[in-house]
Amino acid sequence: MPLRIDLHAHTTCSDGADSPTALVEHALAAGLDVLGLSDHDTLAGWQEAADAVSGSGMTVIPAIELSAQVIDRGAGTPPRSVHLLGYLPNPDNAALRQETDKIRSHRDHRLQLMVEKLQTDFDLSWEEVAKTIPPGATAGRPHIAQILIDKGYFPDTSAAFAGPLRADGPYHVPHYAPLLTHAITVLRDAGAVPILAHPYTGARSGAIDHTLSEEDIMTGYDALVDHGLAGLEIDHRENTEAGKALLQSVAQRHDLIVTGSSDYHGTKKPNQLGENTTSEEHLERILAHGTGTKPLS
Ligand code: AMP
Ligand code: ZN
Ligand code: FE
Ligand code: FE
Repeated sequence: MPLRIDLHAHTTCSDGADSPTALVEHALAAGLDVLGLSDHDTLAGWQEAADAVSGSGMTVIPAIELSAQVIDRGAGTPPRSVHLLGYLPNPDNAALRQETDKIRSHRDHRLQLMVEKLQTDFDLSWEEVAKTIPPGATAGRPHIAQILIDKGYFPDTSAAFAGPLRADGPYHVPHYAPLLTHAITVLRDAGAVPILAHPYTGARSGAIDHTLSEEDIMTGYDALVDHGLAGLEIDHRENTEAGKALLQSVAQRHDLIVTGSSDYHGTKKPNQLGENTTSEEHLERILAHGTGTKPLS
């Protein structure tokens, strides 16, 4: 039987619903052999996950999903928010710590500003939202969604994101994130394997402007690979079918690592553990190149 490998999941250390212990339990129940723990902009869940997975027979790959952004020079298009997975980073790397501390601090402030804007039309307070964010956890829009759900405005997180929390809506406030090229360098320098998360969820999202000509798209990916990008998360429910085909051709051109993952957030998203998986061959490539820390088992 091939190993069941899901390399992208979140906990209460960012915007997931499960504690690291509950995530490990749910991953075991889902029959996973290998689980990537990839909270947004923090490594805070690693210790608890290490304790929970010990002796269970499953392996946890310590990881992070780093917030980044892409600004196309001279294109007149707004900056695009991009997520970069980093597998096996050194938790003591100073530059990575500095960058994640900075992003989390800006995320806190940004969420407060969003609450202030929302107060024009919704009854909620920052104190209520803050109570749902564990100390040190990475704050995100799903934390606001929770209060809007509790107050009966929306049935679930997805409905709140389709409404007032959407990125192009009047209540949205962006947060600081490093440029994608810098994020790749920071992860590489920390010994991690940088892999673009859900790279093609729509024509106007992602690291590359996919409305460009195929030649320009390829040139864009060439530059990211030159910079140290190691792989693409192709099997993800939010990548479009046309996007997956394009990403496969990019991966072949550069012999990139290819992953498939759920991006599980517990009850905060419909994504189910193991709904997409990664091959043993590509996991082996991650393990061979990730030098910052060791898998947990
Ligand atoms: P933020 O990090 O504050 O910009 O919020 C975006 C995060 O919310 C992403 O990591 C998503 O995984 C999460 N999220 C949960 N549900 C949704 C949804 N329905 N649409 C978009 N993002 C969602
Ligand atoms: Zn998330
Ligand atoms: Fe993401
Ligand atoms: Fe994610």
